Amino acid sequence: MPITLTGKLMPTPEQHQTLLETIKTINAASNWLSPILREKRTVNKIALQKVVYQELKERFSLPAQYAVRVIARVCNAYKALPKKSRFDKVVEFSELAAIDLDQRLLAFKGIDRVSLATIKGRIVMPIVFGRYFATKIGFRRGHAKLIYRKDLNSFFIAVAADLPEEALIEPKGWLGVDVGITNIATDSLGNFYGGQELIEKREHMKGLRRQLQRKKAQKRRLGKSDRSVRRALKRLSKRLRNYTRTVMHTIAKRIVLDAKALALGIALEEIKGIRARTTVKVRRDERYQHSLWAYRLLQQCIAYKARLNGVPVVFVDARYSSQTCPHCGFRHRKNRLSQSEFCCRQCGYLTHADLVAALNLALRAQAVVSPPQMLGGFNPYTGKPSASAGGC
Ligand SMILES: [Zn+2]
Repeated sequence: MPITLTGKLMPTPEQHQTLLETIKTINAASNWLSPILREKRTVNKIALQKVVYQELKERFSLPAQYAVRVIARVCNAYKALPKKSRFDKVVEFSELAAIDLDQRLLAFKGIDRVSLATIKGRIVMPIVFGRYFATKIGFRRGHAKLIYRKDLNSFFIAVAADLPEEALIEPKGWLGVDVGITNIATDSLGNFYGGQELIEKREHMKGLRRQLQRKKAQKRRLGKSDRSVRRALKRLSKRLRNYTRTVMHTIAKRIVLDAKALALGIALEEIKGIRARTTVKVRRDERYQHSLWAYRLLQQCIAYKARLNGVPVVFVDARYSSQTCPHCGFRHRKNRLSQSEFCCRQCGYLTHADLVAALNLALRAQAVVSPPQMLGGFNPYTGKPSASAGGC
């Protein structure tokens, strides 16, 4: 399973300068080559190499391997465009754009040091990976990128890696996972993963943002530069995004490990279902958009971690999953008494409303994978008793 491992480089001030010059030179060389490629109307690396290699190398004093990479990079940039309009415009590379590296340009010396070819020869410097990434370094493949983050004035290496997946377990049953706003997730075992903290954090940040926006307006009125305020705003939204990401990863991890420990597959609501719900009331307010983004993120996290852990995942139709009785299959809008209470009008089954959806997702997954007889005799899609109904 593909993953990108990102580590921070720790160059000396002198090396820092060399890295910066290398990035700028490679981008300048790419911009020199790009119009030539367009003029020749070709994306054939070998043919191009014969024509431009020498000049490219000399003009920018590039090491041979970088010249090869620049040619490949520009060819790939054009190749990525639709064939019909491929040569309509000259592809441009920004001055500080990330550059491609291969195994000849970048070599790992253990897990905490790299040797990198630059326009001024090889340099060796420490690299720092986060705890999780550090354990995965052994799975790296050849391709990597050198990235400069201007806002942090730092360099990073992003390495492609391929993580081995565990063999899929044969599930003994299904763990339904419902995603929502008040509870970020509820599973059919009755675990609730609260969303209150996330909501509060968001509200708090909204307050901060309002203050900043006032400040920005004020600065504009006075004709002063609002750059610092704009930056602060950007930082704020990034902080919220990162926080949400961490929360979702933590929840996903717990759900997947629970499922694995119990040898259960995971049943998730089809994304389509989420969309269907939103079309009922078109809500464009930002809180809702954020939740929608968070839902998808959580689902992706779960699906991803499940795959790594060999836990099967199915996506099931979630229509009426909060109105259908998981006990007898009776569906009615009024089965739901309130935001938190569910009471079946047919059999009297009483439980927490959020749990109902998760239970139904688990049942529906069972129905998809196994014959409906296993469901206690009702069809979870129609809510009607199936032919083999034993009654409940
Ligand atoms: Zn019922």
